[in-house]
Amino acid sequence: MSIDEGLLTPKTIINDVAVSYAGYAPENYDRQFNGQVPMDYALEHSLNIPAVKTLGMLGKDKLINKLAICGFEQIKKDQRKLGLSMILGGCGATLEELTGLYSAFANDGVYTRPAYVQSKKLSGGTRLCSPAATFIINDILSKVNRPDFPLNWQSTEHMPKIAWKTGTSYGRRDAWSIGYNKNYTIGVWLGNFSGEGVASLSGANTATPLLFRIFNTIDYDSDQEWYRQPADCLSRVVCSETGLPPADFCTNLISDYFLPLTSPTKTCGHLREVFVSADEKLSYCRSCLPAAGYKKKLYKNYSPDILAYFGERDISFERVPAHNPACEKVFQESGPAIISPRNGAEYLISKKNPEPIQLNCNASSDVGKVYWYINNRFHKTSSPAEKQFFMPEEGPVKISCTDDKGRNRDINIRVRYIDF
Ligand SMILES: [Zn+2]
Ligand SMILES: [Zn+2]
Repeated sequence: MSIDEGLLTPKTIINDVAVSYAGYAPENYDRQFNGQVPMDYALEHSLNIPAVKTLGMLGKDKLINKLAICGFEQIKKDQRKLGLSMILGGCGATLEELTGLYSAFANDGVYTRPAYVQSKKLSGGTRLCSPAATFIINDILSKVNRPDFPLNWQSTEHMPKIAWKTGTSYGRRDAWSIGYNKNYTIGVWLGNFSGEGVASLSGANTATPLLFRIFNTIDYDSDQEWYRQPADCLSRVVCSETGLPPADFCTNLISDYFLPLTSPTKTCGHLREVFVSADEKLSYCRSCLPAAGYKKKLYKNYSPDILAYFGERDISFERVPAHNPACEKVFQESGPAIISPRNGAEYLISKKNPEPIQLNCNASSDVGKVYWYINNRFHKTSSPAEKQFFMPEEGPVKISCTDDKGRNRDINIRVRYIDF
């Protein structure tokens, strides 16, 4: 659906870094972050954060509506309660519902409800996504160089080609693997009927080997060809840094699928030109650019969340030098984004074990220092990625963060001390 909405293509770069949606902070299965990854890699590796971000861009109601059409009963019931975590399985779905849904990928994006009696005429069918988007998903899910390719699988020459996806639920209660080709769609679920978790249960290691064995048994030496690239799915050259059509400065070019008139057409902006002093110690804007003694230099155009990720891991990168201190231009842009605490939130602090509140912000790449203020009183100077702490007073608290270019951001919280 996101491909059809023009939100992404297989090589679109997604930032797999810490993110928070009004308090919901998804984590990856292994609790690691992967930084900048292309969409196809994120899908092959079942990365949670890119999935949540993609649903956030698409809007969860669009997904809920389609799943309701496909007869997902629990999701229909819970639709008002469901949040972005539904994309990770934070919702109820049955093996029958999921297998039926995957069969739409096997049928060019058209969903038909499964029937248990062969003689029953299957009715109509609903288009869920375009043949082009379906082809792209089938291509990604049929690659075999994936972490969930079954270990020690004696892949025979005649093993049919399949596309598949694995899943392991929270607490290892369910191991899933659903695969398909033109002949069959097969869903495998393993777990206890009581819902009790099993430490050794995993989609990749338990369910997928069984899925492969079933395919090899019922579809051995398959007569079917793989899906053909439809006419409305074309290939183009993109910059690997963003997955967007390259600019003059892009050198690392790769091939990507796209949907003409739908997929993003913005030119890559992975670098940006900055005016710097000859010694590269100062940067200038147009209003403070000296008559001579400057040069143009290209810097990577990192977003604030990636800069925060680099900062936390001590990953070095070339920073834009500090802005000319003599510059008098008042910056119009907004200041650093305060991530913690949360604007408008109420914080309860234990009188017995008072814990300080964390101060954390995302600033743009040319910021070297930020200044924190609590209730208009100076608190601390810090590098943008560094976390600071403070012990608040009870009542309303105003927190301000100013960067070294004078851009400021204020938020307000409320603090209550309670007995617990
Ligand atoms: Zn580029
Ligand atoms: Zn300036």
